Amino acid sequence: MTNKANPRIIAIEEHYWDREVAETFQDGDAVRRRSPIIERLYDYSELRIQEMDEAGIDFQVLSHGAPSTQRGDAETSVKLARNANDRLYDIVGAHPDRFAAFAALPTPDPLAAAAELERCVTRLGFKGAMVHGLTNGVFFDDKRFWPIFQVAQELDVPLYVHPATPHPAVVEAYYQDYLKDFPSLLTAGWGFTVETATQGIRLVLSGVFDAYPGVKIILGHLGEGLPFYLWRINQALARQGNRDTSFSFRDYFCKHFWITTSGFFSNPALLCCVMEMGVDRILFSVDYPFVDNQPAADWIPTIPLSAEDKAKILSGNAEKLLKL
Ligand code: MN
Repeated sequence: MTNKANPRIIAIEEHYWDREVAETFQDGDAVRRRSPIIERLYDYSELRIQEMDEAGIDFQVLSHGAPSTQRGDAETSVKLARNANDRLYDIVGAHPDRFAAFAALPTPDPLAAAAELERCVTRLGFKGAMVHGLTNGVFFDDKRFWPIFQVAQELDVPLYVHPATPHPAVVEAYYQDYLKDFPSLLTAGWGFTVETATQGIRLVLSGVFDAYPGVKIILGHLGEGLPFYLWRINQALARQGNRDTSFSFRDYFCKHFWITTSGFFSNPALLCCVMEMGVDRILFSVDYPFVDNQPAADWIPTIPLSAEDKAKILSGNAEKLLKL
């Protein structure tokens, strides 16, 4: 039971790398390069738990880092996802009081991805799945992926829609000329935000939530900007000339989406999200090890919300959504 004055802290967008997956899909030099981040991606216990303890983080829901198994051919991704999820089960099993897991899904084979989600939740005890960016250039709202949403609804587990490197045509048209001086423009600096917000909007437009009204989507990074734009998106998509002037983007977004604080520790931005979505939809996360635990922990005491609301964000909402 959560003590409101000193609540448990659960972080749910916390990454690791599986060596087989990373060596297949990441640039080989990046995998071999030694950096503090890569060392932590491959650490599944000692350093990770030590840094959780230092920052006061009680529990991590682990997920593979981008691009995970959203790239490549169907056969390879199916085998890799299965192997990686089996190994992730062992990682969680070694410290079940500190870790839970989101599955990697082999989305290049959508039916196999749906089956893998089912296997991971029912047999391995995973709490949902994380999907990174586009699958070989295809947005996640494409009808080929809907069997995944069907299974997610049946099992009542969320799908975490996470960024990956944007589509190559977008990189070329929007970012290329600045990447030498500002490589992060492509990723957390802007490119991730644009593409993942687009994923969220397209999911609403696709009708997947009418087909599967129980589907729950998590977006990181305080909703990838969508809470800030909610009024304008909602108003614009219902203007004359659109399909249905009574269409409410807001209703779909607030019913089907949860957001996390991963890598975004701003009180003005958080308060905007609270005002648009309500405190029950916001879950604490760090985005470890791409972001350090300590800045997130240092932010917590500054959050200008009641102890009760803070306890929901820090763990209560995650306990409910993920049945922890
Ligand atoms: Mn992340």
